[in-house]
Amino acid sequence: MPLMKTITEPARQIDVIHETDVLVVGSGPGGLSAALAAARAGVEVTLVERFGCFGGNITVVGVEGMHWYRHEQTVESMGIPKEFEDAAKEAGAAVPESQSLSYEIDSEGFKLVADQMVQKAGIHPMLHRAFVAPIMEGDEIKGIITESKAGREALLAKVVIDATGDADVAHRAGAPCRMAPREDLMAASVMFHLAGVDKSAFMEGIKADPQTYADWGGGGEWNIETSGKEDQMFSPFLYKPFAQAIEAGLIPPHLNTIAGTWGAMHDTGELTYMNLIHLDGIDGTDPDSLTQGEIEGRRQTMLAIEALKRFLPGCENARLRNFGMSLGIRDTRKVDTVYAMGELDVREQGRFEDSIGIFPEFIDGYGILILPTTGRYFEVPYRNLLPKGIKNLLISGRATAGHKVAHAATRNMACCAVIGQGAGVAAALSVQQNRALDDLPISDIQAELLRQGARVH
Ligand SMILES: Cc1cc2nc3c(=O)[nH]c(=O)nc-3n(C[C@H](O)[C@H](O)[C@H](O)COP(=O)(O)OP(=O)(O)OC[C@H]3O[C@@H](n4cnc5c(N)ncnc54)[C@H](O)[C@@H]3O)c2cc1C
Repeated sequence: MPLMKTITEPARQIDVIHETDVLVVGSGPGGLSAALAAARAGVEVTLVERFGCFGGNITVVGVEGMHWYRHEQTVESMGIPKEFEDAAKEAGAAVPESQSLSYEIDSEGFKLVADQMVQKAGIHPMLHRAFVAPIMEGDEIKGIITESKAGREALLAKVVIDATGDADVAHRAGAPCRMAPREDLMAASVMFHLAGVDKSAFMEGIKADPQTYADWGGGGEWNIETSGKEDQMFSPFLYKPFAQAIEAGLIPPHLNTIAGTWGAMHDTGELTYMNLIHLDGIDGTDPDSLTQGEIEGRRQTMLAIEALKRFLPGCENARLRNFGMSLGIRDTRKVDTVYAMGELDVREQGRFEDSIGIFPEFIDGYGILILPTTGRYFEVPYRNLLPKGIKNLLISGRATAGHKVAHAATRNMACCAVIGQGAGVAAALSVQQNRALDDLPISDIQAELLRQGARVH
């Protein structure tokens, strides 16, 4: 390989445009919940987001199934994850989800829901600013530098919460992070929504040939381990139209990765949350890899739509309504936090004295699907949010440390919001009590979480 050319970027003085108590970077389920929890605990909060809306994967990628694991016996986390669903329902931005006792959150409508939640909580909103560098004094983070149309700007804070999903802040601050090799990462997806679907013909077709979770074993990527009890349950799984399209020469045989689930069939003819395109080997921290994934994912989407039009009842006149605003990334850096969640913690109802929340026994990823149909749940310890080596920083959302099977549980949006609520409360208490994040009385964190309606044990 030829040596890469380099240049030296000159040092420069930049304006400190804002100071706050708690600064949350990234506004997905992990960041939005952290900001809300900190604000409700009574401190000044600022929420920084690189895109033009809050919500992360919900609004940016179009991941609408936040509670699709919920069945009669499911014990819920309560708190902010539940509130997201309730607020969306109240705003008319949710419809019944197809496979569970939950509501699918409308990815467009949730943009407004999130705006209103942020405003009501008195959070200082800063959209269209990307975090680019931490402001450090030794091993303490003192704020961040952002890039935007306004150039480079500095924001100072007493506590920073990294909710970027990719651990951008922790990584650049020098916290130890791990990332699986590209070939072992969970697939990336281009999400899309359809318009022009004939609802009654579609639903008749689904009823005539209902799929189950056992059918996920239909081929390609889709061989999954269940606990057995899932096998005969209905799943909105689509595989056959794509197998038929391969057979008919419409889709090349190597694209037997095209398969997956639909989310909700709306009365208005929209079929949303089409989770069908899966791209292996995409590195969400490498913009060249992201570029390739976006283009290839859109190409495959159009093949998938052709297959649906030909082989799925009700879709004959369907058309693409929209792609997600961005490629969906499931798996990148994990910060080496004080406690890394283990496989047994999520499979065998882990219990912790420093629990900041519970999450039902829902494991989805790395070839495993276990649904919380029995009331089993695990707890998330506060230590899972505390990065090693960096002070004044907490990690929220999918970047907390854990075994890959643990990640298949904690990456789920409702669990990211559980983690976020814990992070927000801890950050607020650290400011109010003037104590280090690793020196907070856990009973105080738990008391505030209970006051906010979360469940901690
Ligand atoms: C295609 C797909 C389907 C999925 N399906 C489901 C599902 O059905 N149910 C489920 O529960 N989970 C699902 N997941 C997983 C889930 O969406 C994620 O694990 C979850 O959203 C992670 O939450 P988060 O808050 O950590 O990160 P994100 O939701 O990714 O939010 C991170 C936010 O940080 C912002 N950000 C990132 N970097 C910067 C920066 N440098 N500066 C400023 N802002 C930044 C981003 O723009 C984003 O808004 C799916 C994921 C994908 C990709």
